[in-house]
Amino acid sequence: MEKRSRIIRLPETGVTPDLPVIARDVTACERCPRLRAYSAEIARVKRKGRLGETYWGRPVPGFGDPEPWLLIVGLAPGAHGSNRTGRMFTGDRSGVWLFRELHRQGIASSPNANSADDGLVLRGAYITAAARCAPPDNKPTMVELDHCREYLIREMALLQSVRVRLALGRIAFDALLKARRELGLPALKPRPEFAHGAAAPLPEGGFLLSSYHPSQQNTSTGKLTDAMWRGVFDKAVALAAP
Ligand code: SF4
Repeated sequence: MEKRSRIIRLPETGVTPDLPVIARDVTACERCPRLRAYSAEIARVKRKGRLGETYWGRPVPGFGDPEPWLLIVGLAPGAHGSNRTGRMFTGDRSGVWLFRELHRQGIASSPNANSADDGLVLRGAYITAAARCAPPDNKPTMVELDHCREYLIREMALLQSVRVRLALGRIAFDALLKARRELGLPALKPRPEFAHGAAAPLPEGGFLLSSYHPSQQNTSTGKLTDAMWRGVFDKAVALAAP
């Protein structure tokens, strides 16, 4: 395993770099009026089959092992997934794919993620996202992504044990690259291209690994198959091996 040559330092934000503090700040965030209104409206209206449930309806903080070797960065909460349950990737089809694979790899304590209090534990992975509020059509704007990147930066600065940064989709990939730059880390030359299964070594140590997002759009059309998905996690494990 490549040795880390540089410690990531948090820019001067005046904010305590602590996961519970980041989670508190995320949960209370109101920077994006469009996303806050949409998430709250989904939580109010709900949908057939969920009408009796209480939706989270707020920004969704990251969660997982505070000493991870794997950092998983998704796009944004699903309207009826983590916007409902309050935990990343929990309660929708994308989460079925993610937690099934994390369990197969021995990272998740269960393949099933149904609610924030289901007792599921991650060992070695931390899950976060480029945006923390559910966006209409799963499309946050550039301004909204810029607003939300501070939280990813703070997580990256704190999670120093990470060896593999796994971007689920191009938006997560771009968010990771921008977050690195804003942390003052050396530019990657040439700039890596997003491609499923591609891994780029990082000057600070570790790797940036890309995957198609396990969205229903990708998994139901065969753009992302079971074998491709497993292959990405097998590669992540291999990249992190000593
Ligand atoms: S998307 Fe991020 S920055 Fe925007 S309101 Fe939600 S938590 Fe705040």
